[in-house]
Parts: sequence; structure tokens; C-alpha cells
Amino acid sequence: MNKFKQLLLVLLAVSISACFPSNNSGKTEILLQGRTMGTTYNIKVVATLKQLEALKLQQKIDDALKQVNQEMSTYIADSEISRFNQSTSLDPIEVSDGFARVLQESIRIGELSGGKLDITVGPLVNLWGFGPELRPEKAPSDELLAATHARVGLTNLHLNAKQLSKDIPNLYVDLSTTAKGYGVDVVAELIEANGITNYLVEIGGEMRLRGFKHTGELWAIAIEKPILDPSGEQRAIQQVIIPKDNAVATSGDYRNYFEADGQRFSHIIDPQTGKPINHNLVSVTVIAPSSMTADGLSTALMVMGTEQGMKFAVKHELAALFISKTEHGFTEQFTVKFKQYLK
Ligand code: ADP
Ligand code: MG
Repeated sequence: MNKFKQLLLVLLAVSISACFPSNNSGKTEILLQGRTMGTTYNIKVVATLKQLEALKLQQKIDDALKQVNQEMSTYIADSEISRFNQSTSLDPIEVSDGFARVLQESIRIGELSGGKLDITVGPLVNLWGFGPELRPEKAPSDELLAATHARVGLTNLHLNAKQLSKDIPNLYVDLSTTAKGYGVDVVAELIEANGITNYLVEIGGEMRLRGFKHTGELWAIAIEKPILDPSGEQRAIQQVIIPKDNAVATSGDYRNYFEADGQRFSHIIDPQTGKPINHNLVSVTVIAPSSMTADGLSTALMVMGTEQGMKFAVKHELAALFISKTEHGFTEQFTVKFKQYLK
């Protein structure tokens, strides 16, 4: 899905994929890895190998993720979302449960954030060169920007239970910002449905975890320090957090941008201006029970910028960490709700 997003979060002690025998239960920490949504997944479950084999867990996970893609990937021409986008009909269509769930939450966060998260922003994302279409050499003309902007807006999209419709024929829905988080939720729920209560799920940097490691310790997550190094080779830790039974999502663009005419363009668009965001906020990390929610909120806060984002996060009692760039390096700010998770 979002091919450009790099891992902003690194697991602490992701040492080896081998299994370590636990002290008491005979359970081990098993790493399942694969690819989905144009990125990788890393899943750790505390279980016995026998149990996993009997459950055929990885097969079930791959099948579930395949279904999510078939519903919500704009990179798949005949996915449910692509068919809705290609259709010029204004009549409502019935959508799948999963698609409806992501649409509903994305629209909720869109309205809550005053339109900062906008899943109809896709044409602008493509115009600036970050979607499934090709990257432009330079910034688009004002005329093209205005024409594209006219096609965008959450008020043109309607979801009534599972009935989805649009007011304009060429509306384009892009769930890049919440579908990955939803994929994490689907996998977490699947693991729990199979009777496993200690796990960590990560897809392309979005995470959700529960319970304990095989050693009996709580899962710890390292948030990466922003280093403006396009090669992405230099990495350091900014904060270590213990999120307990929650999801962690980071939105950030310090490795995800292109430069043209000496200007930096982010892949995140401010729906109000129609242009890529351009402020000193480098990344936002949100902790919430649902990965889809954390994912959507982190992008919404990223669009807002540090000052407005911090106010919004305090008002809505969100656990959020903001890392901003200043003349003197990077500074961080976090809400009271976030503080409890700092190690
Ligand atoms: P990040 O972690 O940086 O937020 P995501 O993968 O969650 O990255 O979402 C970024 C993607 O969402 C972009 O590549 C683009 O497709 C889409 N997008 C950009 N701006 C917005 C916006 N204001 N609202 C919703 N989606 C957006
Ligand atoms: Mg996001």
C-alpha cells in the first residue's frame, strides 16, 4: 500500500528469529515474517511450535491479509476500493464488513480532526507523486492543483451502514493511512481468536501488542530518533516505551519525501491547502487500543503540526508524542496520557 513508509519503530531485542525456551510453560517466542501491503510484517507470538503448526497460524494470517488487500488496496486494479473508485455511478453500493469498518473509522477521525485526515485526498497524493501513479519532476501548476483540489472532500462520500456512495463521479478513496493499521488489528484479533494472548504484531511500522514476552517481561518498543539521513542507515533510539496492551503508530516524513527546486515535499497532504505539509513537525507517535485508530490519528496530528496537534491531543485525551525540528536540533513534547508509557 504505502510503499514509501519506512520502519520508524524498531523492536527492542529483535535478536534472532529462533525460539527461546521459556522458564515455566514450555512456550517459546516465535517470529512469523512475510510481506503484505507493499511492506513487511513481523509477528511474535508466545506459544509452542506444535501449537502453531496445529493452528496453521501463519497460513491464516496470510489469508486474512490477502483479503484486506483485496478489499482496500488501490494497488490492486480489481480490489473493492478500486472498483468503487473506477465506477462513475452515484448509486450506493454494498461494501464488505472490513471495508465498511475502515471507512467508518476513517470518516470518524476525518470529522473529529476537522478534515485533516481525509481519505478522498488520493488525487492530490497522486498529483504530488506519492500514489500508485508516477512521481512528477516538479511541483504541479496552480491550475492543475485547483482542478484536482475540486475533486477532494469528505463531504462527497457517504457511508450508511454498509451502503457506500459518492456525490461526484470521479471521487477517489485512498485508505493508505488507516488500512495498514486495520491489517494489524485483523491479525491481532485472529491471533486472539486462536487462543494466544501474548503477541506483538507489526506491519510496516504499525504495531499492536498484548501480554508478555516469553521471559515474563512486558514488550518494549523503541521509537527511532529522527536523523535526516536519506540513506536510512544511521539509526538511534529517541525513547523507549512500554505500551502495555495497545497499538503504537508513528506518522513521520523525515525519510519519506522528495526534493524538487530545492524544496522538500512530504507524502502527507494538508487537505485544506491541497499541498504537502510544510512545517517543523517531524514525527508523531500515538498509542491507542486499536491500530487503525492510532494510525489515523497519527496522520491527522501530523497534518496539524506541533502546536495545533498538541492542543487537539490534549483536548481529546490522546497519548501522543511529537518530535519537532528546531534550530538547535530535535525537541519532543508529549501529552500526560503518553507519559505513563515512557520507560
Ligand atoms: P504516515 O505513517 O506517514 O502517516 P501512512 O502510511 O499512515 O503514513 O499514511 C500516509 C499516506 O496516506 C500517504 O502516502 C497518502 O497516500 C495518504 N495521505 C496523505 N495525506 C493524507 C491526509 N491528509 N489524509 C488521509 N490520507 C492521507
Ligand atoms: Mg498514518
